[in-house]
Amino acid sequence: MSGRLAIIGLGPGNVDQITPEAQDEVARAAHFFGYKPYLDRLELRPGQTIHPSDNREELDRAKAALDLAAGGQDVAIISGGDPGVFAMAAAVCEAIDDGPQDWRDVDLKVVPGITAMLSVAARIGAPLGHDFCAISLSDNLKPWEIIEKRLEACADAGLVMAFYNPISKSRPWQLGRAFEILREKLSPETIVIFGRAAGRPDEKMTYSTIRDAEPTQADMATCVIIGTSETRMIEREGRDPLIYTPRSYSGSISGLVTGLAPGAVK
Ligand code: SAH
Repeated sequence: MSGRLAIIGLGPGNVDQITPEAQDEVARAAHFFGYKPYLDRLELRPGQTIHPSDNREELDRAKAALDLAAGGQDVAIISGGDPGVFAMAAAVCEAIDDGPQDWRDVDLKVVPGITAMLSVAARIGAPLGHDFCAISLSDNLKPWEIIEKRLEACADAGLVMAFYNPISKSRPWQLGRAFEILREKLSPETIVIFGRAAGRPDEKMTYSTIRDAEPTQADMATCVIIGTSETRMIEREGRDPLIYTPRSYSGSISGLVTGLAPGAVK
């Protein structure tokens, strides 16, 4: 008899930003898999069991959850933010793709959540107001050379970039190198936002320019947003500034070839 597997996004950390759908799914499940800090956010009742695992064990976690669900249990996998953004939903699909037939019979539900870049963007204005992309700076699951190529291509394309997994103890230099690459491509005044722990009590939003940005401004709970030559800041007396990317592109097409729109400081 096949059971159910819900892959639930809990949002950035603020209870108000957990969707009612995610809350219902948490109330329904009997077994919870996930990274311990995410499981710690749940308020469970007696009879609901947690199966914590390390952050690097995504595929094993997916398989264990699928096994239990295929055996008829009501299972949940918990992700921070959205489960489809650098998180467990893809790991579960990958496990099903290569797994036994009965995993395909599991009643699977992906429950979306507010992803980090949206939460950070909302706190500071509207930096993602025009075309943007999201890049994980972690080279645990892809070669660093690919990341460098993507950074260059995205800068050339004039996209706002949201960096996930910008830095960690085991990946100390990658963010600094990413800034170096972008300094070659972007105007020095390009705005960089460091959105740390959005929605949590220890939230901290800071900003800089690509010229002055320091990797030490980020940690593993930070989503870094790199603006374009269009992204700008509105100073407000007694209030935090607003950073936004306008809805319409005012640069030239040739500006995109160098990543610098006309008017950008060269
Ligand atoms: N599925 C998650 C992302 C997992 S990758 C989501 O959709 O948000 C983990 C990375 O997400 C962290 O290294 C950090 O870059 C970012 N992140 C997660 N929660 C965050 C938060 N509350 N504030 C800022 N960045 C966060």
